[in-house]
Amino acid sequence: MRIDLHAHSNASDGTDSPAELVANAVAAGLDVVALTDHDTVAGYGEATAALAGTGLTLIPGAELSCQVGGISMHLLAYLFDPAEPAFAAERELVRTDRLRRARAIVERCRELGAPISWEQVQRIAGAGSVGRPHIASALVEAGVVASVSDAFTPEWLANDGRADVRKHETDPALAVRLVRAAGGVPVFAHPGADKRGRTVSDQVIADLAAAGLAGLEVDHTDHDEPTRARLRTLASELGLFVTGSSDYHGSRKIVRLGEYTTAPEVYEALVSQATGATPITG
Ligand code: AMP
Ligand code: FE
Ligand code: FE
Ligand code: ZN
Repeated sequence: MRIDLHAHSNASDGTDSPAELVANAVAAGLDVVALTDHDTVAGYGEATAALAGTGLTLIPGAELSCQVGGISMHLLAYLFDPAEPAFAAERELVRTDRLRRARAIVERCRELGAPISWEQVQRIAGAGSVGRPHIASALVEAGVVASVSDAFTPEWLANDGRADVRKHETDPALAVRLVRAAGGVPVFAHPGADKRGRTVSDQVIADLAAAGLAGLEVDHTDHDEPTRARLRTLASELGLFVTGSSDYHGSRKIVRLGEYTTAPEVYEALVSQATGATPITG
């Protein structure tokens, strides 16, 4: 079984449509793929429709933008009921504030001399939950930087960079409770990704475990081997399972689908904890 529990479509900041993501997951030899767009479930319908006849199993999910003590972090949520109103309202709040913030970032970029426009960013983002990677693509189009990752520097879009503007992000303990109340399973995404910005302390992770966190995403392209070893020990101390995932974003990141995977027994444990939705097999 090849199981990849973290992938983005163009419902957020990936470049594959949900149907293309399904086709690429099949081509990559995956048995299970989770669709985890930022703060949205908008890709579910198209991804589900594309499953027919593939034998691939889709885990509907999302990646929630959270913040604690001024530190941004991401919470993966799997197999929750997308219609549960309290959690749906929180996702909508984050998406709405993403729009305000993206306009403000474009304004900052223009003040700093980058010839990009809000119309351009809207065209790039399409219907997707808009974020810095779309603005990064606009900066690439405008010739300001050479690649999306080159836009995530202090000069431009990195956390607290010159053109960064913060968005509303949910307190992670609240997010864990919202996910559980919607029948879902919460997993801390890339908890040791310190090149992106500050990361939270072990104490915060322990507090989240007490609030109902189920697992830590350990095998991830942003974690070096010592970080993985440290997180594995922490997970075992806190009774959390460990996952591995690609965090695929299509052509916006270089990581491949299935580059990191999750053990079948962890997958079974995750599915057995969920009451909000079930895996969908084509
Ligand atoms: P946002 O959700 O708008 O705050 O933007 C965060 C997203 O930017 C993450 O989900 C990643 O997809 C992307 N990102 C963050 N850091 C980098 C980086 N160094 N290189 C490329 N993409 C990044
Ligand atoms: Fe992303
Ligand atoms: Fe993330
Ligand atoms: Zn992600």
